[in-house]
Amino acid sequence: MNLSDAIRSIPDYPKPGIVFRDITTLLGNARAFRRAIDELVQPWAGGKIDKVAGIEARGFILGGAVAHQLSAGFVPVRKKGKLPHETVSIAYSLEYGVDEMEMHKDAILPGERVLLVDDLIATGGTATAAATLIRSMGAVIEAACFIVDLPELGGAAKLTAMDVPVRTLIAFE
Ligand code: IMP
Repeated sequence: MNLSDAIRSIPDYPKPGIVFRDITTLLGNARAFRRAIDELVQPWAGGKIDKVAGIEARGFILGGAVAHQLSAGFVPVRKKGKLPHETVSIAYSLEYGVDEMEMHKDAILPGERVLLVDDLIATGGTATAAATLIRSMGAVIEAACFIVDLPELGGAAKLTAMDVPVRTLIAFE
């Protein structure tokens, strides 16, 4: 089985000219889901990671499974206004305008080793903001991992330039 075959591509979504890579078909395929998680965690099997940080919303699904597999804790990186306790936040640029992401202030302790997880990296705006936020809490980002990379958009290169090692399983041009 080829993991990329388990991902559905939807032309002109969410707007004309964009091909959306839909990982819900991979999540719904038992063998593909198991294999994607096994491959994502493989470099960290054996216990180097204290916390897995998953980016809302598909990063929650993958990050929960990754954290379980690594016997690590899971912490959510959420859109503004969703977390009930005291938060730290960072603003980041979207294609049009800015948004803000938040984490609970006490979700990650200084010195903890964190693995950042999301389904896909495109321009890297989301993941670089999350990495900056996590570092501002004094934690060490061991790596960031994604099922899909869109290398032409340069996000993985941006993370690498911040000294965040990147693991991706599939690239779509
Ligand atoms: P970036 O900030 O440009 O790297 O965009 C990555 C974020 O947008 C991630 O949280 C992804 O879940 C989401 N995203 C962007 N394009 C796609 C896509 O084609 N499929 C699934 N998610 C996407």
